[in-house]
Amino acid sequence: MVEIDVEEENKEIVRRYRQLLRNAKPFLKENDSRAIRKAFNTALEAHSGTRRKSGEPYIFHPIAVARICVNEIGLGTTSIISALLHDVVEDTDWTIKEIERDFGKKIARIIDGLTKISGVFDQGSSQQAENFRKMLLTLSEDVRVILVKLADRLHNMRTLESMPVNKQYKIASETIFLYAPLAHRLGLYSIKSEMEDLYLRYTEPQVYDDLVSRIAANKEARNKFIKSFVRPIQRNLNDLDLDYVIKGRPKSVFSIYNKMKKQDIPFEEVYDLFAIRIILDVPIEDEKAASWQVYSTVTDYYKPNPDRLRDWISTPKTNGYESLHTTVMARNGQWVEVQIRTRRMDEIAEKGYAAHWKYKESDAGSEGLEQWITKVRDMLEQNDSSALEFVDDFRGNLFSDEVFAFTPKGELKTLPRGASALDFAFDIHTEVGAKCIGAKVNQKLVPINYTLKNGDQVEILTSNKQKPNEDWLRYVVTSKAKAKIKDGLKEDKKHIVDDGKELIQRKFKQFKVDSTVETLEKFKAYFNLNSLFDLYFRAGKGLIENDDFRRFKEYKPPNTLKTRPSTKISDAKSFEKEVVKVKSDDVLLIGEDMDVIDYTLSKCCNPIPGDNVFGFVTVTEGIKIHRTTCPNAPELLANHGHRVVKAKWASLHESSFLASMKIIGTDRVGLINDITKIISDELKVNMRSMSIDTDSGIFEGEIMLYVNDTRHLDLLTTKLEAVDGVVKVSRLESK
Ligand code: MN
Repeated sequence: MVEIDVEEENKEIVRRYRQLLRNAKPFLKENDSRAIRKAFNTALEAHSGTRRKSGEPYIFHPIAVARICVNEIGLGTTSIISALLHDVVEDTDWTIKEIERDFGKKIARIIDGLTKISGVFDQGSSQQAENFRKMLLTLSEDVRVILVKLADRLHNMRTLESMPVNKQYKIASETIFLYAPLAHRLGLYSIKSEMEDLYLRYTEPQVYDDLVSRIAANKEARNKFIKSFVRPIQRNLNDLDLDYVIKGRPKSVFSIYNKMKKQDIPFEEVYDLFAIRIILDVPIEDEKAASWQVYSTVTDYYKPNPDRLRDWISTPKTNGYESLHTTVMARNGQWVEVQIRTRRMDEIAEKGYAAHWKYKESDAGSEGLEQWITKVRDMLEQNDSSALEFVDDFRGNLFSDEVFAFTPKGELKTLPRGASALDFAFDIHTEVGAKCIGAKVNQKLVPINYTLKNGDQVEILTSNKQKPNEDWLRYVVTSKAKAKIKDGLKEDKKHIVDDGKELIQRKFKQFKVDSTVETLEKFKAYFNLNSLFDLYFRAGKGLIENDDFRRFKEYKPPNTLKTRPSTKISDAKSFEKEVVKVKSDDVLLIGEDMDVIDYTLSKCCNPIPGDNVFGFVTVTEGIKIHRTTCPNAPELLANHGHRVVKAKWASLHESSFLASMKIIGTDRVGLINDITKIISDELKVNMRSMSIDTDSGIFEGEIMLYVNDTRHLDLLTTKLEAVDGVVKVSRLESK
């Protein structure tokens, strides 16, 4: 039994509470301390008698959370009160109504938000994601809910030691998965780093301890190096009569660990273990000029790496981060990152938006905050997909850095790194996105899946004939574009189905077929389709011909289901949902007796009807069909001749087979448009993907598309070769 000295403990509670008040004092207005006192007393009483896992009185926790709000985020009275009360409704008999009665509507709403978020993480992961989404929705009400929650989580991470190991793991994982990215997005840089470091400490304790001791061992040499590095800079800054501080900041354990893992290098080879930070004390109107003056001084002494200059002063990050970064070469040949910023920027970088509010007069901060909230809200409103997908999208946007690109008029767009020209188009306007056929980036023609680079000037090219297709989902990274494409596809499908329904009714009349539920079902069976929806869709796509209606009149549905060759693609995943369909009269005859046997089309050469083919008996996957021109054919025929069987297409009929083509030509505006027009409009061929490279006027494209047979492919080749600018069209043998 551990003896508890109640008197001593009560003294400690009061001591910690006073410390909180001292920290908060500079921000407090009249009556504030009385309200805080009331919240403290309420929490003290509500939690009295309860202890944390560590054995400490529970009240230590809300006090600590409130102190984080004040000291590390820079929040004021409302947040202090909310932090003190944050576990009261969740863990005690208190109700939200009582909180509202005693502390008003505003506080009650925040506590309500905080209570809802908590506990929800105990459920499964999908539940967790949904709740995280709800938590972000509360942002539109009061961003303090999120900030206090982050403070709460940070304190729980700091006191993780007393938790059982399995809980440690769970809490740490949630933190790295949800909270650290959120802190980052809010610009709470030091909270984010500490969360990451603590995550590592509890999930990989050995790695963590090892890194910490290596960093410590390195300290003396590092300090010496920093001293000599900054000496000439200091001398010069003194001459300029600037107020400044220089810090040599070691990078966080987690970021060093990450670098080692990502680049697969040992600790010794991580060169940027620290960054030099020069913090200036200048009035806000001189910030930019002074920062560049310091940049000029630094680069007078050390050669900068031009690829590593980052000017987040002219264009702050969306999380509000402002700073000027450069990486220069020290005398010993080592690259050193130098961050130049003012005291105001430094505070924002460390403490995030809350620090913005303190500098409200400058106005730049609150505008950024608004922008951010709008973005998050947009994302939440557009999302009708599953909650997990949402978190994926959200995390996608969080983890990636940002890329800046400009419209032709010079308007700046900030998109997540990895965003494509198509993302850019959707960012401008949904209509622009939906009709996008390509773009001109820095005057050069690029395809819609071009990945944007910083500083690109992007002019979106559109066509009224264009509309979104499934492939587009793979070309975009922003949640907005994804949601809009999905909407477009849904809409499109609906139109096609409506058209198809009408067409079938019309044709039935024309061919004198009674349009009843039975005949429709029979017609569905005729095509071997699963649903009427599929039937209408097929009709709407123009894939049902007059012949089909004619033949259908004679058609008797079989009593027993005939075995039919089922066509499989060896790697179903790579073909996604696009299933290659072989109609019952498109059979492949295999073996000496030319029987209809089960087979799969090999992925290495994608045979299509009309190709010369052979079958190859595999050990585990049955018979695989290869083209005789397949690059693997010589080896198969030479070494495993006994496993080769004859195969022949029995008839050529309309079906879809995947083929890739290569197009080479000279680049010109509208070329892509002309090519896609021939493919999809004139020949009604479905494109699966298209990638295009243009280099100094030479255009090289690879298109994967669905064709019926070799004759169809030949026709397409001839047509494409006739396009102005196209030099050569060829079928890729292996793709
Ligand atoms: Mn708590």
